[in-house]
Amino acid sequence: METWNKLPLAAMDWFAEREAINRNYYRPIYSIHKWWARRPGTTFRALGLATLTDDSVQAEDILRETSSGSFDGLFFEDQQEKFSDKTVLDPFVGGGTTLFELNRLGAQTIGYELNPVAWWTAKKSIDEVDLNKLRDRFERVLDDVRDELDEYYTTKDPDTGKECEILYSLQTQKVKCLSCEDSVQLFPRYELGKKKKTSPAVIYCKNEDCENRIEYLDHEIGETETCSSCGEEFDPSEGTYGYGKFTCSNGHKSDVKESLQRNDQKPEFEYFALYYRTPAGEKKFKEPDADDLNKVKQAENKLEEIREELPIPSQKIPDGDKTRAL
Ligand SMILES: [Zn+2]
Ligand SMILES: [Zn+2]
Repeated sequence: METWNKLPLAAMDWFAEREAINRNYYRPIYSIHKWWARRPGTTFRALGLATLTDDSVQAEDILRETSSGSFDGLFFEDQQEKFSDKTVLDPFVGGGTTLFELNRLGAQTIGYELNPVAWWTAKKSIDEVDLNKLRDRFERVLDDVRDELDEYYTTKDPDTGKECEILYSLQTQKVKCLSCEDSVQLFPRYELGKKKKTSPAVIYCKNEDCENRIEYLDHEIGETETCSSCGEEFDPSEGTYGYGKFTCSNGHKSDVKESLQRNDQKPEFEYFALYYRTPAGEKKFKEPDADDLNKVKQAENKLEEIREELPIPSQKIPDGDKTRAL
């Protein structure tokens, strides 16, 4: 049977669509390394199964939707033994998806790649790792830097005064409007967190003068929300920024890149929220307070102090295919 006829296309499509939204669902390990336009791993797993199995295997054996709406098939089974005598050659490795997925199926893999960065990334993603050695090195790094860095990653919970671990520091870019010089905080939307079973929805007030911009809602985020601190009414799904363009408070539309170039400005960022975990395990948002901002200052000062000793490359990036693409 032709491999093509063994592809469970509708089910593959279902998985690829979900994987595209959040790659961490399917391949947390190798998505650590970024690469442009990496293809969906689920698609290549199904392709691999269709290619490596014999003619007795049909599309529905590989992946099928069950009557209860879940999925079933070889796709979910451990294949490591079955394909260990197969060798797969990928002459154009790129993001490495073919190699990774076929390797996960148990096949031997050989890849060629012209771009040294892509080659290195793919190779390191698939190389055998001595886990004991890795754990050892990791512990050494922890011992070396933990005490020094820990203080930059803690914040006080305003409700309890307890020290908490910072999970994310959220920043927004500030740009000047080309028409009226209004300084604009770029937000694609004013939503910090959607309502889930265990956590409330959180929005960020669009009024820059508002005293208390983070707001917890007891309902799903609606099309119009009212800030309980300043009374501003706004649609949290409508931000100031989208697709490289931004809109100032006077309604002028400008291009971010053009605005930076014409104002001869470097991109400027501003902390606007911290996402942290309390000792009891609760995850919360807060606006950075004076202590938090002070820590950022301290970190900046420290960086200046030791900049000379750091192995930061100073040479110019040579012109190449993608040098000016970003
Ligand atoms: Zn303007
Ligand atoms: Zn407000």
